[in-house]
Amino acid sequence: MSSKPLKILFLASEADPFIKVGGLGDVAGSLPYALRALRSEKLDVRLVIPFHASIRAEGLSLIRETVFTLRRGNGEVPAQVFRTDIKGLPVYLISGAPITSSLKVYDPQADGEKYTFFSLAALEMARHLDWRPDIVHANDWHTAPAIYQVRRQQADPFWAGVKTVFSVHNLGYMGPEAENALLAYGLPPVEEPTYPAWAGRQPLPQALWAADSIVAVSPSYAQEIQTPEYGYGLETFLQSRRASITGIVNGLDYSLWDPCCDQALEASFSADDLSGRDINKTTMQSNFGLTQHPEAPLLAMVTRMDYQKGVDIALAALRRVTDLPWQVILLGTGNAELEAQARRLEADLPHRVAAAIRFDAKLSRQIYSAADIFLMPSRYEPCGLTQMIAMRYGSIPLARATGGLRDTIADGRTGFLFSDSSPHVMAATLRRALNTYQYRSKWQEMQHTAMFEDFSWEKSAFQYADLYYHLVQ
Ligand code: ADP
Repeated sequence: MSSKPLKILFLASEADPFIKVGGLGDVAGSLPYALRALRSEKLDVRLVIPFHASIRAEGLSLIRETVFTLRRGNGEVPAQVFRTDIKGLPVYLISGAPITSSLKVYDPQADGEKYTFFSLAALEMARHLDWRPDIVHANDWHTAPAIYQVRRQQADPFWAGVKTVFSVHNLGYMGPEAENALLAYGLPPVEEPTYPAWAGRQPLPQALWAADSIVAVSPSYAQEIQTPEYGYGLETFLQSRRASITGIVNGLDYSLWDPCCDQALEASFSADDLSGRDINKTTMQSNFGLTQHPEAPLLAMVTRMDYQKGVDIALAALRRVTDLPWQVILLGTGNAELEAQARRLEADLPHRVAAAIRFDAKLSRQIYSAADIFLMPSRYEPCGLTQMIAMRYGSIPLARATGGLRDTIADGRTGFLFSDSSPHVMAATLRRALNTYQYRSKWQEMQHTAMFEDFSWEKSAFQYADLYYHLVQ
């Protein structure tokens, strides 16, 4: 292997701290740094994101790098590229009418055009800067067209031999809204006999077909997407690609999530001294008008209110265990029916249940630091960050054994797992957890073990780096 650094062009639709809507923003805002920190002289990682209208430019010290046009049908669309460096990582922001025309990061009306333009512009940028990557690494459907385009350009000397990695954070979103834009920018449907007919026209399946390597965001999810239950009709095709699929769990940015120095908390604490948790719990109980009852286990959910997250299962399970003393704080927003169900439980059990129907980053941190048991009964969970945050903060997860939850939680050691997506199975598991909670030394042992688990990015970054080296050998 040459001693020159391996060049990785890393594409994402969002990245913290520029812009974050969900878990992908956490990943793209941490993994490129973790890779550079690992072996900066060996891995030249560069991040490319869209210059969304909502990204605030002041304070970024931007350099205008290049301008060019992309072909679209019989016309041309101009693109501008800006660069800024954050903690040693070069970050490129791509602007152009398809990106700035919509104010939201995700907007079904605009996304097809926006992300097809972005993906192809990111590649064109590399050519204009004469920076030929060894690997193009894209994430989810929004940047999938770049993977397909690299494959289609293998006769072009600039792209010949360039390898591709495609990370699947959520197979459920394939990008059907991009069909017309793909055609307009010159990307034809993929003809693949093991696909369902619709798949060849959508960006995510196109990238699954074209990528040299596919990464699912946990080993269990890598297996699950090859089954009818989780494969969305692509399972047969994915089975045919099984040799190219790996699972790598996402990491947690330990500098951002640390109970010893989290400014949002009433009282800080560490695995060696958990006493601050009691103060945080009492504060939460009083803030939410719950009875001050130190012995009652405090349960919590912090979640998008979505059926994927099993919010309905949790609410129904809680109704089955009202003979035991517990309290719960539910923080989340999203699906209106699920929000209403949460409010109904609060109305029915006002001294036990508090429902905060909103997005509130500060409150989420206070909840992680106060709750005894963290509920995560997801129907599917490619990786999941919340269970890792909960464990880091000494809150014991009670979760469905699926995807990343299965891979990061050890039943009886760091949490409680159950298999069936049903309220009565979850309720039985909750009884098991509530019973264990009575044994304080056992409970504290679980908290210690959970808090000392290693979910740092370094571990995952090593696995990605190995994958990159393996591909270019
Ligand atoms: P997903 O990306 O599928 O929503 P993850 O578990 O990977 O789920 O990440 C969710 C992230 O969003 C976590 O950092 C969690 O704390 C945060 N989060 C979710 N809902 C809320 C909310 N209502 N208020 C504050 N933070 C939230």
